[in-house]
Amino acid sequence: MSSNSASASAVENDPRIYSIWNPRAWLMYAPGELPTLLWVVGVHIVLVIGLILLPLPPISAFITAFVLLFLGGLGTTVAYHRALAHRAVTLHPAIEQVLIFFAMFNGSGSPRNWVAMHRHHHIHSDKPDDISSPHYGGFWWSHLRWLWQADQPDRDRYVKDMMAFRYRMWTSLQILVLFFAISTGALWFFFVPWQEALAAMLWIGPVRLMWALHTQCTVNSICHLGAIADHGGSSRNVGWLSFAHFGQGENWHANHHRAPANPRIGHRWQIDLGWVSIRTLGLVGLAKWKPQRKGKFEEAAPEPDEAVTANTP
Ligand SMILES: [Zn+2]
Ligand SMILES: [Zn+2]
Repeated sequence: MSSNSASASAVENDPRIYSIWNPRAWLMYAPGELPTLLWVVGVHIVLVIGLILLPLPPISAFITAFVLLFLGGLGTTVAYHRALAHRAVTLHPAIEQVLIFFAMFNGSGSPRNWVAMHRHHHIHSDKPDDISSPHYGGFWWSHLRWLWQADQPDRDRYVKDMMAFRYRMWTSLQILVLFFAISTGALWFFFVPWQEALAAMLWIGPVRLMWALHTQCTVNSICHLGAIADHGGSSRNVGWLSFAHFGQGENWHANHHRAPANPRIGHRWQIDLGWVSIRTLGLVGLAKWKPQRKGKFEEAAPEPDEAVTANTP
């Protein structure tokens, strides 16, 4: 095969070239990613049908869904993002494991997978190899499609500091955790009429999981719609997304790209309950972080693998 035909075929196999109105733009999948596609499509279908038939859950199910979302969000921002991906904070191992569980229960995937993709994103931000850039694939690529259409980063390269069993075991447990995440609402069958129990299943399962998915995906899509600039890339701080993120701080994404090693993402008045949680854990000795000099956060490089987690915009 000539190099010309090889590159033509490479372009044809790049799902980013297809318009979102072309079914191929949605139905193509990277090797091994068909389950992800089926999961996202399947849960959305159940969500839409369910909300039409059973729009109102019992209040107990609504509160449970909210609490799980909140804890799962902290799991993602505090454990996956700030502690594991950037080593900006060191958590007590027990706290780290609890937060990993809630992140997975929220559908965030295994810690090794999340961290590998996130480190890849930082290193290649706003370049063609960026795994989730709206500038190289459009909004829906950055928001959802990359989840099953982008080739997986080389985990041996990106998460070689996460070879310990306490991280690897979660990859094997992922399907089991997702099963319980989607079916926990079935417990309501013991306590309320079946119609209400079905609504509880819907809200604690698909509604919660898709809320978590779409809010996390806004960081890759809406928070990267700025012009590609020198420092911090196309990342933007998007204040109104604080509501969707329950004030946990990930929406201040430009701050984060400028200083990935800073455990605090929201600056000054910008609400960042992830940082409040870290400070609270620190008060009782369950979290540690390096002091950051004001305005010099970007100098605090993470320790275990500087090449991977360095402060690349
Ligand atoms: Zn980013
Ligand atoms: Zn990051």
